[in-house]
Amino acid sequence: MSQGTRRFPTDTDDGMLLIISGPSGVGKTTITRGVERSIADSVFSVSCTTRPRTSADVEGVDYRFVTDDEFEAMRARGEFLESAGMYGKKYGTPRAWVEEQLKRGRLVILEIDVQGALQVKAAMPGAYCIFVLPPSEATLLQRLRDRKRDDESAIQRRFAAAKQEIDSAHAAGIYDMFLVNERVDPAIAAAVDAVTRARAARKS
Ligand code: 5GP
Repeated sequence: MSQGTRRFPTDTDDGMLLIISGPSGVGKTTITRGVERSIADSVFSVSCTTRPRTSADVEGVDYRFVTDDEFEAMRARGEFLESAGMYGKKYGTPRAWVEEQLKRGRLVILEIDVQGALQVKAAMPGAYCIFVLPPSEATLLQRLRDRKRDDESAIQRRFAAAKQEIDSAHAAGIYDMFLVNERVDPAIAAAVDAVTRARAARKS
């Protein structure tokens, strides 16, 4: 606990960072939100992004939507724990909020890509990292189509990017768990179990 940080009655020394990554269409957001609901003292880190808000996004809940100038000003002030570019848009994790929550003893969940996970792991080697995999490439392609979010050429681009993301996750060497999302409830249960064990092992 750093000097000057006020302690609250709910504070513990149990802070842990959980990174959840995975290609788009794999169901990673559902798993992330499921883990958040299942672990009482967990909190989800809301990233900043320059990508446009879709009708499914809630400002301040899914992302903080910022302009490119705002993003660059925040980056220049060192306000991001990590940041990455995807599809020409920028994404970043707010450093101060994450550090504050860790001091409070929370399980802090970051849903970020492999580039970002590598940066966080280098700065905070204690982070526990999960990569969500589809049961097969064919299932992933089908899920991307079922979302009805993109046209066929965009689907093919996302599919190629997804395969690349999976390859870079294996090469990164930072993931503690590769979680196959065959059915969502057992996948959430397996993630919760792994995280709970990893957290308990740190205390012993
Ligand atoms: P989407 O635009 O579909 O919500 O997210 C695109 C990708 O950006 C996903 O792989 C998501 O995990 C990743 N992402 C979201 N927020 C962040 C962030 O703050 N940092 C990094 N590095 N990746 C992020």
